[in-house]
Amino acid sequence: MIADRDVERVLVVVAHPDDAEFWAGGTVAGWTDTGIDVTYCVLTDGDGGGFDPDVPRGEIPRIRRAEQQESASMLGVCAVRFLGSSEGSLLDAPRQLHEDLVRMIRQVRPQRVLTWSPEWNWQRFRSCHPDHLATGTAVLNAIYPDASNPFALIHLLQDEGLEPWTVQEAWLLNSPQREINHYVDITDTFDRKVAAVLAHASQIKDPDGLAGRLRERIAPNTAAAGLPEGRLAEAFQVVVTG
Ligand SMILES: [Zn+2]
Repeated sequence: MIADRDVERVLVVVAHPDDAEFWAGGTVAGWTDTGIDVTYCVLTDGDGGGFDPDVPRGEIPRIRRAEQQESASMLGVCAVRFLGSSEGSLLDAPRQLHEDLVRMIRQVRPQRVLTWSPEWNWQRFRSCHPDHLATGTAVLNAIYPDASNPFALIHLLQDEGLEPWTVQEAWLLNSPQREINHYVDITDTFDRKVAAVLAHASQIKDPDGLAGRLRERIAPNTAAAGLPEGRLAEAFQVVVTG
């Protein structure tokens, strides 16, 4: 694993607006605080989301992009890129998605990539959205081999001048518990995580209870991370990719 001080850039690739904040908002805030450039790439507009039937469905992508921008800027994220796929469609165009992700990695040149685990986590079945698993698979397939192979998708180098790039490590979200191998203490950034999740207002039915729910959700990480009671942590599977 590489130390944060050796990381200049992180690319966060998630399936839906709000994925990053729910799962890693405290960690992202800690990274940007230390001066790491964090770029988000959000693959879909989360157009299946929301809970209010009075909001016209056609408005959802615009609303969710605006919420994501706001939320990301609260965490100090320097750029958010939207690929604009439809929720539930990530399995339909794997070739185009693959090329988009290889291009993104070569443009951003991140030492570290944060994304979904491609594995089913049976302990959290309802977090295993097909878009999440598809995102994890697509991102790992982009990191290796094509992002670092100059002869793969050769037009990226020849026509767009995008040199190959080797990502050093991938941090995965919602990996099966047996694969979790790293915890980040987010006690000091927890309030900012809560605020950033709250910025996704179209998704939060009970904003007053949110902090408590988030706290409860990550409570088991404290003991697993070997932290003293009262501390809070986010959990990851870190995979060496470089
Ligand atoms: Zn999601």
